[in-house]
Formats: sequence, C-alpha cells, structure tokens
Amino acid sequence: MSTGDQKAQGRVPPALPPPVQLFLMSEGVVISRALSLAAELGIADLLADGPRSGEELAQATSTHPRSLYRILRLLSSVGVFTEARPGRFALTPLGECLRSTVPGSMRSWLRMVGLKVWFHTYAEALHSLRTGEPAFARSVGMEFFDYLATHPQEGEIFNAAMSDFGRGVAAAVVQEYDFSGVDKAVDVGGGNGSLISAILQANPRMTGILFDQPHVAEGAHKSIADAGLAKRCEIVAGDFFSSVPAGGDAYILRWIIHDWDNDRALTILRNCRAAMKGTARLLLVETVIPPGDEAHPGKLVDFVMLIALGGQERTADEYTQLLDDAGFRLNRIVSTASPMSVLEGMPR
Ligand code: SAH
Repeated sequence: MSTGDQKAQGRVPPALPPPVQLFLMSEGVVISRALSLAAELGIADLLADGPRSGEELAQATSTHPRSLYRILRLLSSVGVFTEARPGRFALTPLGECLRSTVPGSMRSWLRMVGLKVWFHTYAEALHSLRTGEPAFARSVGMEFFDYLATHPQEGEIFNAAMSDFGRGVAAAVVQEYDFSGVDKAVDVGGGNGSLISAILQANPRMTGILFDQPHVAEGAHKSIADAGLAKRCEIVAGDFFSSVPAGGDAYILRWIIHDWDNDRALTILRNCRAAMKGTARLLLVETVIPPGDEAHPGKLVDFVMLIALGGQERTADEYTQLLDDAGFRLNRIVSTASPMSVLEGMPR
C-alpha cells in the first residue's frame, strides 16, 4: 500500500524505530558525498538533453560503469535522478538544479561542499568542541580565508558556491527589502557580487561599491561586467579588519558577521560604523536562529561556522547585543522567502 493510500484511509505510517532513524541520520554524509561527486562529474549537464544509459554516462565521465550506476541508483532513491527505464537515468526537478548554468543551479555549491579540505576539518571537529577554536586552522595549518587565497582553484569554487546559493537569496532580499532612500550601497565582503548585482538591477537609480580582499575583488570584475553593471558598481579591494569604503547610504554584509567570533565581528561592524554618515543604515543578511527545537538551516550552517572559522549563527537577542556593542540600534528584522533575514541597524 502506498503512503497516499494509507493517508486516504486516515492511517499514519508507523515511525521507524529509533535505532533505524539514527542509522539513517548517520548516513547523511553518504548522500552529501554522492551529490558532490555527481556535481564534480557534471552528470546533470550530460542529462540536459534527455535520459542516457549508465554506460554512456560512465564513458563520458571516465568512470567505472558499475560503480557510477550504484551512485546514480542511490541518488535516484532520494529523488535527484530517476531510473526511468532499467539502467537509463533522467533528471528530476532536483537534478535540474545540479546543471551548471540554469536558474537555481547548486552545482558549484555541491562542488564546494565536496572539497577535500572539509573532510580533514570534520575529522578534527572535537578540537572545536573542546576549545571553541576552528578545527580548520588546526587540521589545515592556516585560517580558512588564507587557505582560499593561497589555493586559487578552490577559492574560485568557493566564490561560485556563494553565488549559486546567493542568487536565490538575493532575489528574496530584493523582493522584501525597500531600498528607497539608498542612493549608494556598499557590499562589504561582497564576493562575486551576486547580491549587489541583484540590488542594482532591481533599483536602476542606485550605484554600488563591491568591497572584498584584493584577489576576490580582482575576480569580481568579470561577474560585475557580465551583469552589465561595470559603470554603476565600483570594485574596491581592502581588508575589512582595517577599514571599509566611506560614503555609502547602506552597508550590506551578507554571510560576513556569521563567519567571526564576537571580537572580530565587532571590529568589522565598528569599521562600518566609522565609515558611515549618521543617516546611513547597516543591513546584515544572515539567518536568525529561532528559539527552541525548531529545525532551521541556520543550525546546520552554525556547525560549519564553528569548525571552519570559529564563527557562529546568532539569535535575535545576540544580534541586538552585538549591534549595540558596535554603536548601532537593531531597528527591525525583515524576514524573506529564503532562510535569511535582513537585520537593519541604525547608528546610535
Ligand atoms: N557576501 C558574499 C560572500 C560571503 S563569503 C555573498 O554573500 O555572496 C565571505 C566573504 O568575506 C568572502 O568573499 C571573503 O573574501 C570576504 N572576506 C574575508 N576576509 C575578508 C577581509 N579581511 N576583508 C575583506 N573581505 C573579506
């Protein structure tokens, strides 16, 4: 009997026994790994024009046919592909998002999640639990952003991953947050510029500054030009622990403050405050951790922040306190259709 039939008859399927539920949770890493492998191999792009056999896919990706078949069968069991006919695979709506250049593409994100360096970091996670310090620095021997700076290929995958996930979030922010009164926005640690691009495209009278580390700023020229914004968006290189560009009406920081412990977050926020006129506003785009047991994507990312950077996701109360310490009043929290909210701070 299908689940639908059971529901129709008012019967709820019995919950799996607790040991089985724990077993399935423990194997979450297997799904993650299989998704990253499929993304790395570009399987979804190979299925863009229609179903193909496992044999063909193995040939096109230089993989061992039976082994690839088993990964595709696994991913079909969780709805990413479908084994439309025995041995032939097709895309599902989830699989479509594994393609490279489609709206909603998560391919770069999954490639980033599959970077080898994470597995060394997970192996050292107990160090973070004992000390609050990033396991990344201990296992890899340098801080996270220094690693990306010195490993350009992985740095590029990281920046593309931020854009993948960032485009959908940017659309949700532009939908919910009213930028009237903002002539110039500064995107602090703006990465490839997926957020400032969406804001400037939706608000044609605005100009912007994308600010990031020199090697990231250098790479952002192409994406800003591709978005047709070369004339409206200046790109400035620097270090937000020293200073940020002055003269903006809004200072936007998406996925910046969550990267850092309170001391370093305060340094960045105070540098923003120092660059701001009294009428300018601060906009943090972050997840806000809800109280209690509620499942929330921020609670997953929080663990990654701990082990990668010693950073953290925060509750509304924690943001209120942090902004207060940096010279801002948390004016309001605007929720969006994405898991991210816009926290609006006004200089005190
Ligand atoms: N805001 C972007 C990127 C978030 S990832 C987005 O939402 O897509 C964090 C960003 O902080 C990266 O682009 C990284 O290069 C930048 N960053 C890290 N340390 C920095 C520093 N010291 N000065 C300026 N930018 C920095």
